[in-house]
Amino acid sequence: VPAKPRKPDWLRVKLPVGPAYANVRRLVDEHKLHTICESGNCPNMGECWGAGTATFMILGNVCTRSCSFCAVATGRPSELDLDEPRRVAEAIQLMGVKHAVLTSVNRDELKDRGASVWYETVVQTKQLSPATTIETLIPDVKANWEALDTMIAGGQEVVSHNMETVGSLYRLVRPQGKYDRSLEQIRRTKQAGKRTKSGIMLGLGETQDEMYQAMDDLVANGLDILTLGQYLQPTKRHIEVAEFIHPDLFAHYREEGLRRGLKYVESGPLVRSSYHAERHVNVPI
Ligand code: SF4
Ligand code: SF4
Repeated sequence: VPAKPRKPDWLRVKLPVGPAYANVRRLVDEHKLHTICESGNCPNMGECWGAGTATFMILGNVCTRSCSFCAVATGRPSELDLDEPRRVAEAIQLMGVKHAVLTSVNRDELKDRGASVWYETVVQTKQLSPATTIETLIPDVKANWEALDTMIAGGQEVVSHNMETVGSLYRLVRPQGKYDRSLEQIRRTKQAGKRTKSGIMLGLGETQDEMYQAMDDLVANGLDILTLGQYLQPTKRHIEVAEFIHPDLFAHYREEGLRRGLKYVESGPLVRSSYHAERHVNVPI
């Protein structure tokens, strides 16, 4: 058995403190909301919450899928919470953020995949905070393109869908996902005129050639913005880290991505798809 790689120094992060952090904490709790920051054990909570921003996760906190890297609980989700869009919109208004990121669990059991709640959340957020830009990180709609059209029709500025990993690792990492279907989702989002974004986690065992292939596939399918970050194992029950990628290799992937035709690449060990998201609204595409 190969020795488990040790966590390198560049992954050390600051502890959450400060008044802005406390304010986000209170708003999230009072509005009974879920964040992927907490559900995903994100290492950047000190920085993002300390700056008064968070990524809300809608449609509940139980997912119908069981991706091997993800700390969100798997199971049978509760009933649709039709008041959730209002509470999210209100929390975002009270946070006063310039840019909001929304994501959701997968609701494969729902015919519309939760599209109506997605749409309402974006529309109500825009109503209460017209100056706030929005990124929606949308899950795999499983080729329900009507649901996708509804999800992206509320006026958000950025629509993301994370590939998560290279094609060869899908069965291990995203067993209910399909590489080509996710590419098609991105292509259709672009065809609908949206600014497209995706994310890949590194350190799951992908090769450099596979990364180049993934970037080429993304460019061919109309992707604008790509985020690359180090996968971290949320608990011992999740898939192990195969490798800690050196910051120099992250920098190299950034250059390669731009050379291959991506418009913007955010790449570094602690990058998450919602990290520095406010920058991605205005980069020229
Ligand atoms: Fe939350 Fe994203 Fe920041 Fe992590 S990077 S704390 S998930 S907003
Ligand atoms: Fe986690 Fe999303 Fe996979 Fe559900 S679909 S297990 S929320 S990564």
